[in-house]
Order: sequence, then C-alpha cells, then structure tokens
Amino acid sequence: MKLGIYGGTFNPPHLGHLTSARAALDILELDRLQFVPAATPPHKTLPAGSPTPQQRLDMVELAADSLLLPDRIGASDLELSRPGKSYTADTLEQLHARYPDAELWLMMGTDMFLTLHNWREPECITRLAGVCTFARTQSDSGEALQIQAEYLQKTFGAKTCVLQLPQIVDVSSTQLRQMLERGEGQEYLPPAVYGYIIRHGLYGVHYDLKRLPDRELRACACSMIRAKRIAHIRGTEEEAVRLAHRWGADEEKARRAGILHDITKYLEMDEQLQLCRKYGIVLDDLEQRAVKLLHSKTGACVARDVYGVSDDIYSAIFWHTTGKADMTLLEKILYIADYMEPTRDFPGVERLRKLAYEDLDQAVLAGCEMSIQEMADRGLPVHSNTLQARDWLRSKSSRKEP
Ligand code: ATP
Repeated sequence: MKLGIYGGTFNPPHLGHLTSARAALDILELDRLQFVPAATPPHKTLPAGSPTPQQRLDMVELAADSLLLPDRIGASDLELSRPGKSYTADTLEQLHARYPDAELWLMMGTDMFLTLHNWREPECITRLAGVCTFARTQSDSGEALQIQAEYLQKTFGAKTCVLQLPQIVDVSSTQLRQMLERGEGQEYLPPAVYGYIIRHGLYGVHYDLKRLPDRELRACACSMIRAKRIAHIRGTEEEAVRLAHRWGADEEKARRAGILHDITKYLEMDEQLQLCRKYGIVLDDLEQRAVKLLHSKTGACVARDVYGVSDDIYSAIFWHTTGKADMTLLEKILYIADYMEPTRDFPGVERLRKLAYEDLDQAVLAGCEMSIQEMADRGLPVHSNTLQARDWLRSKSSRKEP
C-alpha cells in the first residue's frame, strides 16, 4: 500500500490543502491519503481564540469528505490523540508500526520542505517516508525546491518528489482567518467547512443562525451531511423553487425547505431518538424501528429551532418522507421535488417529472404509489401516513372526475 500523510495545523483547512492533496493522490498513485492535524505544532503557536483541536479535526474531516473519495482520502486523529508536541518523526514511527509494509509519503508545501532539515530527527523522517513537495504560490521557485531536494537526497539519502500542481491556490490559513474576520474568503473553503465555521462562530464569523442568507444556510446544511448528498440537496432546492414558481407557492420558502430537508439524515438511531426526546416527537411502533423515517421529523425540529424556519417550512420538512392526508401546497412541492429532482434516476422518474408540472396531486399520488410498491417488493412495512396520503389523493381525484 502507498500511503500519503498530509500534516498541518489546518486552522482552517482550505482549497490549497485540498487541491494539492488531490493532485498528489493521482500523480503519486497513492492508495490512501490521510490528513493529520497537529495537536501542538512544534514550529508555530496557534493564535489565541483558535478552534479546539476537535473542531480542527471536524473541519479536516469535512474538507476531506468534500473530495468525494471516502475510501481513499480521510483524516486521522493520530497526533491529536498523542500528548505533547506533534513531531512528524513520532507520527511516522507510529504509522510504520501500524502498517509495516506500507510505502509512506509525506506531503508538504514549499515553506515546510525548505526547512525540513531543521525538523526534529530529519534522518528518521526521511528513512521512514518519501517526501513529496509542491509550490504554494506562483512565485515559489521551482529551482529552490530542486536544490533542497538534492540536498536532502545527499545528506539523508531522502527519497523526494517535486510535484507540478495543475492548479495553485495561493492562500494560507493565516490569510484566510484575516479574510473571514472581514466577511471574505469563503471561496477558498469547501462549503461544508464554511458552514461549520458559521455554526460554531469561529474566526470572528458571527451570524444569527435564525436569519442566515441563502448561501450561508446552504453551507450550514452541507456541514451537517456527507458530501455525496450535496448534489441531491442542491437538486431538491432547485426543483422545489421551480415547482413553487409553477404552482404559485412562495419560492423562498420552497428554497429553504429544500436546503434544510435532510440536515439530520446522517444521525444514528440513538442521536435521532435523543432529538425526538428533546423536541417531544412521539413515535409510533414503526418509527421506533425505522431510522430512515426519523430524519424528516428531527430535521424539521432542528430547522425551526436552530435556523428559525416558519411553521409551514417546518411542516413541509416534517412530512417530506411519508407524506400524509391533507397536504399543503408546500408539503406537496417538497415531497415531489425530493422524489424526482434531477440527480434521481429510477424507472418511472421521467413520468413523475412531467406529471409534477401538469398535475401536482397526480404526481404526489404516483410518488406515494411507487413508495408503497417499493416497500412491498422489499418486504418492508409501509408507514400508515403514506397509505393515508394515497387514499386522500385518490378520493380527491375521483371527486374531480365527472
Ligand atoms: P498558516 O497560515 O496558519 O501557517 P497554512 O496555510 O500554511 O497555515 P498549514 O495547515 O500550516 O496551513 O499547512 C499544512 C501543509 O499544507 C504545509 O505543508 C503547507 O506547506 C501546505 N499548504 C498550505 N497552504 C497551501 C497551499 N495554498 N497550497 C499548497 N500547499 C499548502
């Protein structure tokens, strides 16, 4: 196995880290790459008021996840769980003991590479790992990197690799912290990391969570889910807005319902149940067993409590999984947008997409019927609210017919 190790303070992690990591993964043909946030970096002091080590790890996990390669790129708490200063030599010793057959590669930008001979135990570092470096800015001299690579080879017998990044993102965490303080710099962050910063009020970013602009609300939602779900969230938001426009509903409410509808989707059963207790959500027998039925209810409560959504948005999120009898226009819009937004792909989705713009009730009815059929095919129980939604829509449509 070829394992890349990308150390740093990551205060916060940014696109410079991510683009270089992604390029190194491909060019060095690494099997895996781990970001390893330092607990106490030996070479710099964390500024006062910095996030906690756990918060830096959380942000690095979100940043790594945003690269959408969960089996190959991740974060490690190796240094955070080790007391004392975070020396790279110790980290490599630990990794070598854990993966004795792995070929280790240490990633670092110009600034780190040019000072590597001054780190603690450079001979140990270069014995245990190859060193891969890349320019951080356009003006970083390739020549200086080559000279240092030759020096490390000669002095320590180091194995080195100077990478040409296809794209240089010229930013440092220090600059980014200053930008964030001024309300700038979001474009250097994966949205999930920006959302995490907003939710925790880090780096002087202070928003009233109950009055977030759309961009910031989206970022917060991204920080609560896995990156692979972001395309679906975006699709649901856009589809809900289009449907609201078509059927004369409030487009901004449809947008916010779409953005927030899955924010608790990745919580485990015990966390879901904890939220149910907190918000007084009473569960029936089926819901107590089916974790998939809980996120709509807990998500609605968090959306109202934390992000201050109005009761009609709350209710659209609350019913978006099962549907129910007597659905409001916004409830129907979110239900069907979630079902057939552009990233969905299953037999019959095109019919549903067409129907949603011709006859909304018929589309929701078709959605309920498809869910009922799917559950029957898989031998799973159907929630009574879905059956009631179907019966209500059927009787509505039979009343419409002459
Ligand atoms: P700070 O400004 O707080 O010193 P930083 O931006 O240098 O932070 P670190 O977390 O200390 O970030 O850096 C970790 C590693 O990432 C280092 O090897 C560094 O050279 C590299 N790195 C940082 N920024 C970039 C960038 N924009 N492009 C490529 N590599 C980078």
